[in-house]
Amino acid sequence: MDAARKTPDQVTQRLDELYRRLQDAAASQAGYPCNQLFDYSELYRFLGLSINNVGDPFHNSNFWVNTHEFEREVVNGFAFLMGMEPERCWGYVTHGGTEGNMYGLYLARELYPDGLVYFSEDTHYSVLKTMHILNTRSIMIKSRESGEIDYDDLRETVRIHRDVPGIVLANIGTTMKGAVDDVPRIRGIFRDLAMTDYYIHADAALSGMILPFVEEPQPHRFEDGYHSIAVSGHKMIGAPLPCGIVLAKRDSVARIARAIEYVGVLDTTLSGSRNAFTPLILWYALKRSGLSGFRKAVAAALAVADYAVARFNDNGIPAWRHKNSLTVVFPKPPHSVTEKWQIAVYRDIAHIITMPHVTRATVDAIVADCAAALQQGDCS
Ligand SMILES: *Cc1c(COP(=O)(O)O)cnc(C)c1O
Repeated sequence: MDAARKTPDQVTQRLDELYRRLQDAAASQAGYPCNQLFDYSELYRFLGLSINNVGDPFHNSNFWVNTHEFEREVVNGFAFLMGMEPERCWGYVTHGGTEGNMYGLYLARELYPDGLVYFSEDTHYSVLKTMHILNTRSIMIKSRESGEIDYDDLRETVRIHRDVPGIVLANIGTTMKGAVDDVPRIRGIFRDLAMTDYYIHADAALSGMILPFVEEPQPHRFEDGYHSIAVSGHKMIGAPLPCGIVLAKRDSVARIARAIEYVGVLDTTLSGSRNAFTPLILWYALKRSGLSGFRKAVAAALAVADYAVARFNDNGIPAWRHKNSLTVVFPKPPHSVTEKWQIAVYRDIAHIITMPHVTRATVDAIVADCAAALQQGDCS
């Protein structure tokens, strides 16, 4: 490693190069659900302070250099979007979807220590890791072709294990196909089997910020039957730092709360020291956009997704998308194309996600590249 000290000019030059590279990479990024369109410059001054949200945002702390007040407003804003009364809801700003899912599954495990966790094949890869960390038993359930969980396989598997509580991680928008698991139907399976000890955690990483803003959403609200939900902040909303939100029922969380004398906080969160800047980002986005702003942004992005499906199909490429999804699925193109546009692939399919920074012109360019590769019979 070159540990020698650099001159200020050399340091600046390296940073300038990096900045240019990242700007280019961000502009051509179409395969991952990270909105690149945002402006948080009004918040930059807070980077001059060492702020830290250690502890429960709803509980007093001896450490005051925090943004707990804004974090609580973010939690209440998301509670509103998911149709939960703020008094019954608890939550905090996480480092992203992974932490939010881990938190929901941790709560479930604390409530039902001998519970068995069920999730579909199409579930985000991080959930398997979480199962290892929590050391909980889990069973992977088959997926349907659509990417939804296979309800028959779920019912049959739960039935065999009906002597232990069931914990389901339901996908509200799968990573690869944007499929939405039917939470009321999953709840119905437990009812039919006369099981009262069950817990449903909703992974709504991307679609959690889409479904509240469309005319005919799939079930995604607390009343539909889940007990906790995780949403990513850097996906649909867009953020310069990864972040997310987890919401849970207040009475579930009371079971795990421990008071810590050292910082005078309630130790309900997974991390100790926590980011105090990301709650400001989410707060700013919610307050500046409001419901109408998000409705507009979601409608515009869905229109681009429709446009992408049509353009692919016009060029003989069988692309499709789920209702209310920005994830446009199509057959895996050659490596040259996936690399250029940072397109995610899985087995024989690929997708682009029409986040707000992805324009119709970008779609045209991607479709042209795919069509050209198809014509050349390029399968490398
Ligand atoms: C992106 C994603 C995650 C992980 O979220 P991070 O914010 O990257 O930790 C989990 N589940 C789904 C469905 C996702 O799309």
